[in-house]
Amino acid sequence: MSNKKTLSFQTEVKQLLHLMIHSLYSNKEIFLRELVSNASDAIDKLRFEQIKNPQMSHDQELFIEISFNKEAKTITISDNGIGMNYDEVVENIGTIAKSGTKKFLEQLSGDEKKDANLIGQFGVGFYSAFIVAKEVELHTRKSGADKATGVLWTSDGSGEYSIETVNKENCGTSITLHLKDDNDDLLSDWQLRSLIRKYSDHINYPIKMQKMPEHDKDGKEIISNELETVNKANALWVRNKNEIKDDEYKEFYKHIAHDFTDPLTWIHARVEGTQEYTQLLYIPSQAPFDLYDNNKRYGIKLYIKRVFIMDDAEKLLPNYLRFVRGVIDSQDLPLNVSREILQSSKDIDAIRSGSTKKILSLIEDMAKKEPANFSKFYQAFGNVLKEGIIEDFANKDRIAALLRFASTHNDSTEVNVSLDDYIGRMVAQQDKIYYITAESYNAAKNSPHLEIFKQKNIEVLLLTDRIDEWVVSHLNQYEKKDLVSVASASLDLSKIDTNFAKDKQEKDEQAKPVLEKIKTALADKVKDVHVTSRLVNSPSCLVVENNGMSIHMEQLLKQAGQAIPSSKPTLEINPDHALIRRLNASVDADETKDLALIIFDQAALAEGLKIDDPSAFVTRMNKLIS
Ligand code: ADP
Ligand code: MG
Repeated sequence: MSNKKTLSFQTEVKQLLHLMIHSLYSNKEIFLRELVSNASDAIDKLRFEQIKNPQMSHDQELFIEISFNKEAKTITISDNGIGMNYDEVVENIGTIAKSGTKKFLEQLSGDEKKDANLIGQFGVGFYSAFIVAKEVELHTRKSGADKATGVLWTSDGSGEYSIETVNKENCGTSITLHLKDDNDDLLSDWQLRSLIRKYSDHINYPIKMQKMPEHDKDGKEIISNELETVNKANALWVRNKNEIKDDEYKEFYKHIAHDFTDPLTWIHARVEGTQEYTQLLYIPSQAPFDLYDNNKRYGIKLYIKRVFIMDDAEKLLPNYLRFVRGVIDSQDLPLNVSREILQSSKDIDAIRSGSTKKILSLIEDMAKKEPANFSKFYQAFGNVLKEGIIEDFANKDRIAALLRFASTHNDSTEVNVSLDDYIGRMVAQQDKIYYITAESYNAAKNSPHLEIFKQKNIEVLLLTDRIDEWVVSHLNQYEKKDLVSVASASLDLSKIDTNFAKDKQEKDEQAKPVLEKIKTALADKVKDVHVTSRLVNSPSCLVVENNGMSIHMEQLLKQAGQAIPSSKPTLEINPDHALIRRLNASVDADETKDLALIIFDQAALAEGLKIDDPSAFVTRMNKLIS
């Protein structure tokens, strides 16, 4: 009795398959790289199991075999790795476990070029087989399991697959592709060998093919059944740097990172000292779609003495460098190391801090020598790097030096001003770094808080990313210069402009009547009212006390659903402004109240805040205009 079942792919898989087949056809040969990459992963896993369980047999050579049949138009990729049981086939091949897949698919535009790029972010994987195959047969048996528990999975990639339990002679996985028409070019010894060398030379394990037929003296083919190894079959990171071509580094990256695009840059080094290890670390050229997914484990592949130990060993790098991909191969760690041990190991701490420094140097080099690459990097990962200011106290200054901001110096949204650039342009007597945080570039740039800075030609950094508030709250100083918000109540430009602070109290004293009037009218909204020194054109603005939470930060926390004690801001007014003068002259209590509310709401709006009662604001404004 046949136990064959026909099941349907997950909707996401269907979409992905369709997309892949159509957008990657011009790159069709990558299917081989992906399937070999999976075979290599499977052997890695088996080897690791063997180390954990010494009673498992070791005597078999682990390798990948590639063969083809010209008549049947098939290519077969086999491995004697870990294999899969029935449930694992359903789980790994019929569904996409990656969270965020839906969101990813929603971004797709239907534009093939663009989508091919996006798919790179996602990783292509097993389904790339369907770029060239009209039918795929996957035949697998879990290592250590009974011969009768083999599984045969077949699909034409259009939406369904069939699966049945069958006998399988050996453990491991064998994938046979029945090629679509027009793929005969792949059915050649020469072509397959060249693809293996191009894409998979770096694979740790032998990739074998049948020896090419030789010819006897009469020109007759002598076909031998002997296998020969086609790739170098040597861990790439163990080889001498000078002997490794850039393309080899790149292909290796694609294998370990499950990324389809080239990396931006990499570092390959052997570290000797208390800890001996080799690191081959890459910076990708684009962010994966799940970079901010908290559940996603990110990290480095850990090897110990060339034996694969685990993927995504997240403790090998701090969280803010989670975009880095690569391999660390330790000489000293015990082979039975577990995630738990990694959590609190001095050896791991040493490797982490060494690798962190290496990556920071790599980024610094890029900033200095390859500005175009650096700017690409910063676009993709700048906001993640910023987390380092909060997370990595020891390297805070180095990270701060790598940050880039938009600035009033540029008059554009470009994010390319470093703190050092800023310091280089400070005006005479300036000893602080000024910034503003806001919801958007325009809100920052046009904020009334900048009026005095424009007038005095003082540069202000425009911080508009959500994380910037946290960054500046952890970065009080850079190069011994305080970072100061232009919206802080204690803003003091007296060193730069001797008029600035002069008579602060005197100014308040002179404007006392109008200040009192406003204070009374806004008693439940503001903490205090003062005459401003920072406004030139606007009537009013809101400021916060030193160490008080910035208005923008308060907003962010509220949006995030956090309960925060409501604090009242301080209002600053510009007594020379027509609106303030009018209020001062007003003798009607209702009119005074209306004007005060307009002044307050305007200040709130300029801050990017939602005002309490927008329609009342509109009514008041209309009254004022008519
Ligand atoms: P990825 O390699 O990024 O995990 P793939 O689509 O390439 O994604 O593969 C999906 C999963 O299928 C793998 O994670 C693995 O669990 C399983 N798999 C694929 N090929 C093999 C194989 N040759 N041996 C064992 N498992 C495999
Ligand atoms: Mg894969």
